[in-house]
Amino acid sequence: MTGPAKYATETMSGIEQKQAERRALSRGLPDIGELARGVREGRRTALARAITLVESSRADHQEIAQKLLVELLPDTGKAIRIGFSGAPGVGKSTFTEAFGCYLTAQGLKVAVLAIDPSSARTGGSILGDKTRMEMLARDPNAFIRPSPSGGTLGGVARRTREAMLLVEAAGFDVVIIETVGVGQSETAVADMVDMFLLLLSPGGGDELQGIKRGIMELADLIVVNKADGDLIPAAKRARLEYKTALHLMRPKYPVWTPDVLLASALKGEGLSEVWEAVQAHHKALSEAGDLVRLRAGQSQAWMWTEIREGLFAALKADKRASDLLPELERAVAEGRETPTTAARRLLSLVLGAGKAG
Ligand code: GDP
Repeated sequence: MTGPAKYATETMSGIEQKQAERRALSRGLPDIGELARGVREGRRTALARAITLVESSRADHQEIAQKLLVELLPDTGKAIRIGFSGAPGVGKSTFTEAFGCYLTAQGLKVAVLAIDPSSARTGGSILGDKTRMEMLARDPNAFIRPSPSGGTLGGVARRTREAMLLVEAAGFDVVIIETVGVGQSETAVADMVDMFLLLLSPGGGDELQGIKRGIMELADLIVVNKADGDLIPAAKRARLEYKTALHLMRPKYPVWTPDVLLASALKGEGLSEVWEAVQAHHKALSEAGDLVRLRAGQSQAWMWTEIREGLFAALKADKRASDLLPELERAVAEGRETPTTAARRLLSLVLGAGKAG
């Protein structure tokens, strides 16, 4: 993380690796049974190839990716799924690396996946290739995957969920999904993890103004990072302020009260407390039956997202619908038709008369 040249080289190597996987895929479709076996055995090349498959937008790749996921479904669900979010600069990369290394030192296998809302829009990635986490990247018990790029945030989220299932099948104990604290990606991440952890800096009250209430409400745990050196008093003050703010919010579960902890990713302090809180949360939710309910609800919500997106894609691809749309838009704009009747006309055209209610 010292100079731009080094960073660029490392980013290239990540990209080159992805390109190599894509080339391998384009030479021929992999055998599902063999790939599933490789993933189950925790082989990194098999895992990387499987993730490239779920990230691909090619119809034939998508088809075998779904078959692979069905095959591996019984092996999924055993990891603790944690989401990390926070504003740019709060120390997400540094914290993820320190926490990841702390966990691997305990003998755990850790996977880090990223959701970057900018990669959905631009195809580029402001989280970079995650090669900034040099130590963790070299750790044989860690697996780091940058955000899939291109498409909608929904598309990026789906591919990340599927990658999460694959790393679980490969035997990873903890999955960390990291996102930048801007836009709607926090909600997408909160909808796929067991615990949502919000990283804040010792900015205190000023920062509190900038954090959307909705994001605070998503948090199962808040960590004030950079609690080191001169920043310690400010970090302690911020902790009290965040605690007060959390106190005013309705808790998500009767069995869990979100807490605010102090940490220094740079000095590796406070990591064991964070891990203890993650485990306590997992235990409390498991024992109360909340974890099973949470994950079931997440899977159903995901299915409905797929249904909505699938219907929308079918609608956009329908020639009769696209012929009718300009006229409907004009009619609605000019007040000749209500938006509801216009929408119903379009839906009954596509779904068949009388079926759109
Ligand atoms: P991200 O944008 O949220 O991923 O933040 P980074 O991990 O890139 O960190 C942003 C800056 O904050 C870097 O200069 C880090 O060295 C610094 N930083 C991260 N964690 C800490 C910490 O615990 N203490 C201090 N003092 N600085 C930190």
